[in-house]
Formats: sequence, structure tokens, C-alpha cells
Amino acid sequence: MSSQDQNLIGKTDDVVIVGGGLTGLFCALELAPRPVTLIAAAPLGQGASTAWAQGGIAAAVGDGDSPEAHTADTVAVGGGIVDEAVALGLAREAPARIRDLLRYGVPFDRDLEGRLAVGQEAAHSARRIVHVRGDMAGQAIIAALTEAARRTPSIRVIEGYVAEALLTEDNAVTGLQLRKAGDATARPVIIASRAVVFATGGIGHLYAVTTNPREASGQGLAIAARAGAVIADPEFVQFHPTAIMVGRDPAPLATEALRGEGATLINGHGERFMPARHPLAELAPRDVVARGVFAEIAAGRGAFLDARDALGARFAEKFPSVYASCRAAGIDPAKQPIPVAPAAHYHMGGIAVDARGRSSIDGLWAGGEVSSTGAHGANRLASNSLLEAVVYAGRIAEDIAGRVIPAPRRLPAESSAPRNGALPALSERDLRAMMTSHVGVIRDGNRLAEAVRAFARLERDAGSLALRNMATAALLVAASAFMRRESRGAHDRADHAGENPALAHRTMTTLAAAGDLAASLADHVPARPVQPPSTVPA
Ligand SMILES: Cc1cc2nc3c(=O)[nH]c(=O)nc-3n(C[C@H](O)[C@H](O)[C@H](O)COP(=O)(O)OP(=O)(O)OC[C@H]3O[C@@H](n4cnc5c(N)ncnc54)[C@H](O)[C@@H]3O)c2cc1C
Repeated sequence: MSSQDQNLIGKTDDVVIVGGGLTGLFCALELAPRPVTLIAAAPLGQGASTAWAQGGIAAAVGDGDSPEAHTADTVAVGGGIVDEAVALGLAREAPARIRDLLRYGVPFDRDLEGRLAVGQEAAHSARRIVHVRGDMAGQAIIAALTEAARRTPSIRVIEGYVAEALLTEDNAVTGLQLRKAGDATARPVIIASRAVVFATGGIGHLYAVTTNPREASGQGLAIAARAGAVIADPEFVQFHPTAIMVGRDPAPLATEALRGEGATLINGHGERFMPARHPLAELAPRDVVARGVFAEIAAGRGAFLDARDALGARFAEKFPSVYASCRAAGIDPAKQPIPVAPAAHYHMGGIAVDARGRSSIDGLWAGGEVSSTGAHGANRLASNSLLEAVVYAGRIAEDIAGRVIPAPRRLPAESSAPRNGALPALSERDLRAMMTSHVGVIRDGNRLAEAVRAFARLERDAGSLALRNMATAALLVAASAFMRRESRGAHDRADHAGENPALAHRTMTTLAAAGDLAASLADHVPARPVQPPSTVPA
């Protein structure tokens, strides 16, 4: 951004979109020719989970399939708290949004008769995943939308800047504070605007073991929460059962579609362990498979994805990205089992939004993974997230298109991290290790309480807004996980096995409530320094 662009007062109708993944790009394109400023932490095409999606988008476009069947599958894996009307809305809009993406140039695979080819994924009762060249859906979507956005004169793209604070007055958005990515000493930039769309993705990078890019560190969730937004279901984090464990951060992913094609999970003794855990074996819901993989690793037997019989020599052609990740680590997946572990992958929780993507703050919309619509409940059905992203991006654009956004009157004041002189007890690395060890696949009250206290202290003492925002997001997840004294969907409490019917509802919370919990836990525990875990469990 050039110096004359620093501190911008928007004009009437100006809309600011934060995030350059599927949600942000699709929303900006659908709003055209309305002027939009799109801010992305990394150059377009990078730093977005969308670009890494391998499976594809769930849409009931195959013979004999229906939106009702798609909804039933979504509800079945969601741990009893999916909002069925929301899920049905997504399923019904799916075919139209796929047509939109085709219009923007996404080359979805077709069968010999020219119809959209549909693949199978875990817990779907029909083949309904539209994909691109096997496992290249995300890259193809980002490439097509980025090109379309760059060709659209009404979209001004600002790359390499991170939003670090939402500026509000009387619960209404007045602007956004940005900073050059990776430069905590750079001067903040203020953009005055009355209409901001958060499309900042998920929180996976809060965990030491994750499949998400580093930009997915919960900044959007935290910024909205700090401005007072209602946050829904933050405790529900999905762990992908088959991240490839070759010492990379983030961990590359072995897509679920591999299991759809017949690859099996085995332990170090060569034994399949999923058939004993679930009738659907390797195609059981993600949380069940993640716990199976976690248990084998915890028992010291290790876990591996074996595609030798199912794919063998066809591996490289059918799953080129997974093949490349394995080969880079010296593994030939056609001949060797792939070492895997569960990794933080997808956040069902987020900024609570209504059917139009409106948050509880006037002038703040949220869509995609940073939001929580109720469609996923306690556990997301594979390939429903790209669908939700594109559907809500379209709805937000439609909602904004019907409004005149007044011009801001003046530049809002800057927000800064408090400097109270205390040295933060946790570094970013410590925070990530603690999320994996204390707020991971299997949780318990004592460790969650320890995490809540540690993150609340870090939130108070962090010197940079970026680290403080990570602490805010981590605190929201840990506090709601502590409060949900049951096991449901992806949330597994070793000290509260099974579902409690009285808790069969979504969580609606705020940062203030998480802070109150941290204060009450601090009152009950002898003050002692937090020992961040020095190593991350496998
Ligand atoms: C490896 C992997 C595979 C997946 N496979 C599938 C799949 O096959 N099917 C499926 O449905 N889902 C899949 N998912 C999930 C899906 O990709 C995401 O949920 C979805 O892409 C989210 O889209 P989004 O637009 O909300 O966020 P993203 O695509 O993550 O984009 C977020 C954008 O916001 C930017 N950003 C973040 N914070 C800030 C900030 N503070 N300031 C400025 N910019 C910011 C980022 O740089 C990025 O541009 C997968 C996820 C991963 C990680």
C-alpha cells in the first residue's frame, strides 16, 4: 500500500472484505460493480485454506441424489445440534452455486456424457463431491476466482496486510485497523467503513499439529469477539484423522477421498483398527476415525494409511497433490503405507451469523469458516465447508447489494495492545503446543481449566495485537470446551463420556463470558506459573 493510501476514509457504498479465500473472492465478485476493497494477509492464491482443499464441494447433483438426502447426512454426523433448516438451505442452493463457479471458470471434472462427475466421501450416502482433476479442487477454485477478481475493476485488492482490530461505536462498525503482515513495528493503517465482511477462515494454526495455513490463526474470530460479537460453538474443532506426519508445519493432508477409493487404516503391526470401532470402518464420521487414529498412536502402535491395494500405481494420477507430499518426504504411497495422525483441520464454531450472514454487530457480516451458521453442528460433514463458504458469500453479497451503506463521518481512533510491562508467560509456540495437548482430540476439565487460565493471562499481557488475538481465540475455544461437560461430535471429554441430552443445543457466548470463567477459575486454583508443554504429543 503506498503512503498516500494510509488511513483511508471510505466513500458511500464502500464495502471492505477481509480474506482472499473462496468466501472473500466470491463475495467481492458477486458485489461487482459495487466498489469493494478486498484485504488479504498473503498474496491472493496463498495463505488460504481454500487453495489446499483436495476433496471438493458437496452438491446433490448426481443421479438419484437429493438435497433432502444431503441434509439427512449432514444432520446425522452433526452430533444432534445441526440446524436442519440451515443445512437444507445449503443443500438446496448447492447446484446453483456450482453453476456460478463454472461460470467463473472453475473446471469441475465431468463424466463421459459431459455431466458433472461426483465422488464419494466419508459419511455421504451418495456420490456427491464435485471435484477438479482428482484432488485439485481448491487450487482450481482459487485460480479461477483470483483471475476473475483481478479482471474486475470494482475490486481493489490490498495484499500482505492483516486486519488486527475492528473499530466500532455503539455496536456498529466504523472501520478496520490493518498492519503490514509480519511487521509488528509497522504503523497501523485505518480504513473507515460502515460495512465489513469477515472471510478470514479458521483457527487451525492455533494448534501445533494442523493442516491449516499459518494465516488461519483465528484473527478474524478474535477481532470480532473483542468488538463484542456473539460467538457460536467455539469448542467444536474438527481434527482430520489423516494428516501426513513427515515433520512439516502445517502437516500435508491425505484426503478422505483416498479412503473413499478403498485405502485402509492400519497400525504398525499391519492390522486394520477401524472395523472394530464403527460399522462404516474407515468411512465413519471424522471424529470417530480421528479418535481411532489417536488411540493407536497413544498406545504406541502408530497409524498408517495404506493405499497399496486400493490404488497402487494409479495413486500418482488420481491424487497428484498427496502423491507429491509423500514423495517429497521420501515415501512412495503406491508401495508404502503413509504415516498419519489427527490434526486440527476445521472450526465448526465462529462468529454467530443469521441466514444472511449478519453478525450481532451492525455492519459486520461473516462467511465461510470464520462464521458459525449452525449447518455443521458439533461435527462437519466432509466437503460441506466449501459449500457453506460459497453459499453464504453469495447471500452476504445479496444482502449488501440491497442496502445503501452510508459514508463514514471521520476516521475512527486506533486500537492498541495494552502495555502493562508484564512479560507474557507463553510464546506463540507455547500457545500452539498447549492447544494441541490441552484442547485437542481428547479433553478433560483439569487441563482445560489450566488452558483457560493461561490464555486469559496471555490475552492480558501479550505485547502484540496478533499474539493477543491468538490468545483471545484460544481462550474462547478452551472456555467453551470447559463449560460443555459432555462428549458430543468432535468434542470429546475423557471426564464426561457420552452426550448429555440437556446439552443438546448450540453454544452462544462472548469474550466477556470467557473472561468471567477465567476469573472464576483463577479464584479456585493456587497461583502457580503455567508450565507450557515442552513437547507436543504425537
Ligand atoms: C488441507 C485442507 C483441505 C480441505 N479440503 C476441503 C475439501 O475438500 N472440501 C471442503 O469443503 N472443505 C475443505 N477444507 C476446508 C475448506 O478449505 C475451508 O473451510 C474453506 O476453504 C474456508 O474458506 P474461507 O474463504 O472461509 O477461508 P480461507 O480460504 O482460509 O481464506 C481466508 C483468507 O483470509 C485471510 N486472512 C486471515 N486472517 C486475516 C487477517 N487478519 N487479515 C487479512 N486477511 C486475513 C487469509 O490469508 C485468506 O486469504 C479443507 C481445508 C484444508 C486446510
